[in-house]
Amino acid sequence: MPRKKLVIIGGGFAGLNVAKHADKTLYDVVVVDRNNYHSFPPLYYQVASSGLEPASISFPLRRELSRRCYHGCTFRMGTVCRIDTTGHKVYTQFEAIGYDILVVAAGTTNNFFGIKDLEKHVFTLKSTPEAIRCRNEILDRLERASICEDTEKRRRLLTFVVVGAGPTGVEIAGALGEMKRFVLKREYPSIQPSEMRVILAEGNDRVLRTMSRTGSVHAHKALAQLMVDVKLGKTMKSYSDGMVTFSDGETIASDTLIWTAGIRGVSFEFGGDVPEPAPGGRLKVDDFNAVEGVNDVFAIGDIALMQSDAYPNGHPQVAQVAIQQGRRLAANLNNPSARLPFVYRDKGSMATIGRNRAVVDMGRTHLHGRLAWLAWMFVHLLSLLGMRNKVVVLINWIWGYFTFSSGLRLLLRPDRYPLRSYWDK
Ligand SMILES: Cc1cc2nc3c(=O)[nH]c(=O)nc-3n(C[C@H](O)[C@H](O)[C@H](O)COP(=O)(O)OP(=O)(O)OC[C@H]3O[C@@H](n4cnc5c(N)ncnc54)[C@H](O)[C@@H]3O)c2cc1C
Repeated sequence: MPRKKLVIIGGGFAGLNVAKHADKTLYDVVVVDRNNYHSFPPLYYQVASSGLEPASISFPLRRELSRRCYHGCTFRMGTVCRIDTTGHKVYTQFEAIGYDILVVAAGTTNNFFGIKDLEKHVFTLKSTPEAIRCRNEILDRLERASICEDTEKRRRLLTFVVVGAGPTGVEIAGALGEMKRFVLKREYPSIQPSEMRVILAEGNDRVLRTMSRTGSVHAHKALAQLMVDVKLGKTMKSYSDGMVTFSDGETIASDTLIWTAGIRGVSFEFGGDVPEPAPGGRLKVDDFNAVEGVNDVFAIGDIALMQSDAYPNGHPQVAQVAIQQGRRLAANLNNPSARLPFVYRDKGSMATIGRNRAVVDMGRTHLHGRLAWLAWMFVHLLSLLGMRNKVVVLINWIWGYFTFSSGLRLLLRPDRYPLRSYWDK
């Protein structure tokens, strides 16, 4: 039997799990990704706050695919822009790749909910380059504030607004709070810690809305200890000329707005049969992750919307869902006559707010404080790809714990970078 060509868009948690578990005697597996590396989104905020270097949370895809468990997989770098479901081809900016079976595992991107020009002015944390950009901007503000004598300008430079108090918002706000508490005095003596304001704005009535109420309460307390000003019930209306305006009329002058308030599925142009539009820009799938309305196309991970009685709005967009869907889909493709519907096993959720401060929900068990923080570190270390990365991250964390500092506060700006417009596709 000739092998079928299985093309996977995205080398994230979902895509790599299909590639790993697909039977390579049945399939020629091709992984296509816009980057040549796999990244670890849960630690983007640590790159943005100079806690970790980008290389320690990224892993080259070619290297990963050369491991024995992926034997037979190939990699192509390119951004898939178009999917032709009739001709069975995907198109990147470089080439057309034919497929017999297509797995879309491209994840999500930022959602600005139609707020005009927002993407031009805010900083986001949905990719490694965005995290690096955020780091540069934070360091830039501190450098500029340290020599600024105009009171109003200085206040704007030192006001950091984070919009969205989900795990990412809470984590980056906590990291900024730690900078204010532990770094400013030592490294920026001309800035008083009280001058730096970190504001976390959330439209809901609590932080970490997807976690338990107990988790939210402890996270809120921990943020307060780090002098983060949490504003609940605040919906942002606009951000222009450095002025954040909320729907209740309140305004805050700030040169740095970090947007963590929404995500939507990565979008593609479809040729041939087109999937029905689904909420959140996701692709609607059945219980076996087959995309509704098109043949031979599956979607898994953050981009897939599988609605059920237990999850009427789809599964949470977290790594465990992506990993488990990747594994289930591979098993179903390997043995179609015995395929099984996807059932999510919730292993719990966690978020960290800073050193010795984290919250963990595992069924009815709720942890907070140091124990939760140790659990958070352990789980994240285990999930990182590559032994070198695990060791580097662990050393960085131990170093940071005892010294309250990191040597990574480097403002690295690309200078005279040769233009590669096709990378921006
Ligand atoms: C800042 C942040 C913090 C998070 N923290 C946690 C956490 O603590 N715990 C948790 O469980 N989950 C967390 N998540 C969610 C978790 O990262 C996602 O649920 C998970 O990454 C989804 O896996 P995926 O494979 O579906 O997508 P991704 O991991 O996003 O992978 C998608 C891949 O597709 C590639 N791609 C995208 N578009 C294209 C294209 N057009 N062409 C080619 N390639 C493309 C991307 O480069 C990427 O490699 C966090 C997410 C973010 C952004």
